Amino acid sequence: MQNKIKDVIVIGAGPAGMSAALYASRANLDVMMIERGLPGGQMNNTETLDNYLGTPNVSAQGLAQEMCKQAMSFGATQEYGNILSIEKIEDNFKLTTEKKEYLAKTVIVATGTQYKKLGVPSEDELSGRGVSYCAICDGPFFKDKTVVVVGGGDSALEEADYLTQFSSVVLVHRRQEYRAQPHLQKRVKENPRIIEMLDSELISIHGDTHVEDVLIKTKSIDRPIELRTQGVFIYVGQTPHTELLEPFGVLNESGYVKDYSKEYMTSIPGLFVAGDILEKNIRQVANAVGEGAVAGQSAYNYLSQKKDIEKEKATASVVTQITVD
Ligand code: FAD
Ligand code: NAP
Repeated sequence: MQNKIKDVIVIGAGPAGMSAALYASRANLDVMMIERGLPGGQMNNTETLDNYLGTPNVSAQGLAQEMCKQAMSFGATQEYGNILSIEKIEDNFKLTTEKKEYLAKTVIVATGTQYKKLGVPSEDELSGRGVSYCAICDGPFFKDKTVVVVGGGDSALEEADYLTQFSSVVLVHRRQEYRAQPHLQKRVKENPRIIEMLDSELISIHGDTHVEDVLIKTKSIDRPIELRTQGVFIYVGQTPHTELLEPFGVLNESGYVKDYSKEYMTSIPGLFVAGDILEKNIRQVANAVGEGAVAGQSAYNYLSQKKDIEKEKATASVVTQITVD
């Protein structure tokens, strides 16, 4: 067990967590940020950001590294660890990893989301053998090949476009209309290396040791189409990493946090939340950073108010004692 109780522990070093750590430590609190992977979170899974204000067309990983440096520059510390549970013990929180326990007066949960699986035959068996969820990680393995991208949201269209620097892309989406932002739709339509298959579903993946072909069911054709390909990139949405919050009853039926105030505090005093785990419509770096900032500053306000109340209580008890004496 760590011997000193931290003012704030931030779980997750994505843009929301890093921003929370920056604001809380700059307010002179004793802050620790705990991350189980690479600082930057989902920012590490895309190449460039062209919608983060002031940094046009910036490398997402490069920006994440700069964010982390700045977040740590006011005295916050960083630990590698996978938090397995959060318990409220009287006025504090106990956080547990496989090896360690930590105590904190406040906790900011900014654990983000992870990709959903498509759930088709051989997806798991061929994962890492042609099936991928990360174009930036695996795209270069498919130079001069044909790959399939599944999905119709921002991730699918953005990453399909990215992959065309290496490969030809067949983009498979289950409806006629994309969910993605209009500028991404335009980019895809204008890219000669992308073939769109709308109203279509990828129903199975085949191959012995590596992906060799897939079956695609298209609305207008009775029999599934067999397509030879070496790579399948799946972008069919995200699920939140919120198992840690289950005991607190603050989640909606999809696992996103529904119970939070304008200060990004849940109904559990001292337990704050920020970023993609929140129930909201838009999930972007820009709002993750904003929410983290408010959560970090709110943790400071919460601790200051608590201190004032404790001081008042102590003064009142001294006054009562003097009066009684
Ligand atoms: P995340 O970035 O997901 O970070 C959460 C962190 O918490 C992770 O590092 C994770 O390892 C850590 N964590 C989780 N559980 C634990 C635990 N138990 N213990 C310790 N650590 C834990 N947004 C844009 O604005 N522009 C874009 O161009 C853009 N492109 C995108 C492309 C793709 C492919 C994807 C998937 C997303 C993209 N986004 C983009 C969305 C953006 O990346 C997210 O909105 C943003 O990263 C959310 O930040 P976050 O801090 O809430 O969560
Ligand atoms: P998303 O917006 O939830 O889109 C998921 C897509 O997958 C949808 O088109 C959906 O189809 C399809 N889908 C879901 N389940 C499927 C299934 N079983 N079979 C076939 N298709 C299926 O997820 P996302 O694209 O990963 O985006 C997640 C968040 O990150 C969003 O808030 C997004 O804005 C953000 N993001 C932003 C950027 C950017 O700003 N450049 C880039 C990437 C992500 P339907 O449309 O039919 O439901």
